[in-house]
Amino acid sequence: MTSERVSKQSRPLLIAIDGPVGAGKSSISDEVARRLGILHLDTGAMYRAAGLYTMRHGLDPHDEAAVTSALEHADIGVRYVDGAQRTLLDGEDVTGLIRTQEVSDAASAVSKHPGVRARLVRAQRALAESTPMLLDGRDIGTVVLKDAPVKIYLTASPEARAKRRLLQYREQGEEHSFGEVLAAVNARDDQDMHREADPLRQAEDAVVVDSSDMTFEETVEAIMTLVKAVMAKETLHV
Ligand code: C5P
Repeated sequence: MTSERVSKQSRPLLIAIDGPVGAGKSSISDEVARRLGILHLDTGAMYRAAGLYTMRHGLDPHDEAAVTSALEHADIGVRYVDGAQRTLLDGEDVTGLIRTQEVSDAASAVSKHPGVRARLVRAQRALAESTPMLLDGRDIGTVVLKDAPVKIYLTASPEARAKRRLLQYREQGEEHSFGEVLAAVNARDDQDMHREADPLRQAEDAVVVDSSDMTFEETVEAIMTLVKAVMAKETLHV
């Protein structure tokens, strides 16, 4: 009787996807969440909103004390419009303002401060508390959702990631050399993997998906197969 009751208990489907810059986390996560009919939380967007806040307030994003205390007054959140995430800063929709290189650099600097991370991690956990969701970031499987039933470490070789970046730049009409883009990818990896607070690393129980030689569709399919395998074993609700 007890075991039957336990087996019927279900928990929300939570998916943690971590990985280095340029592995395609955002677009792959969007598509996997869409196919499963669950929400996708891009946690990087929240760090970007925090970076934008420091820029708007004329703060040095590397100044840990000033940034940590200023951000206590910032209201960083998300809402969903037709299933798509909108990122909010003090009630303003800043989704279209957080993809610049300047904001990227500020986000990278503020994301090193433990006080900033603690705040955003709390907000991310609250969002995922009772809703089936896919979260992507750098510390989801290792910190934010340590108990997530599905954990994926999505990666690709630095060369493959640099090649994809180069194509994106070309589509935007920007010309860069391969060597320049590869150096930027390696520098970002170094920063993300070697910072003191919650560095990017693979959770012990995460499954590695290396998309170096995989198409977008193959990568989505590989992750869907992993999710379905877990769902066949555990009672998870979407
Ligand atoms: O993923 P994205 O490039 O948008 O992330 C912006 C910045 O936020 C990056 O510097 C990344 O290291 C940081 N970040 C983080 N933890 C997360 C998500 C992003 O430190 N969970």
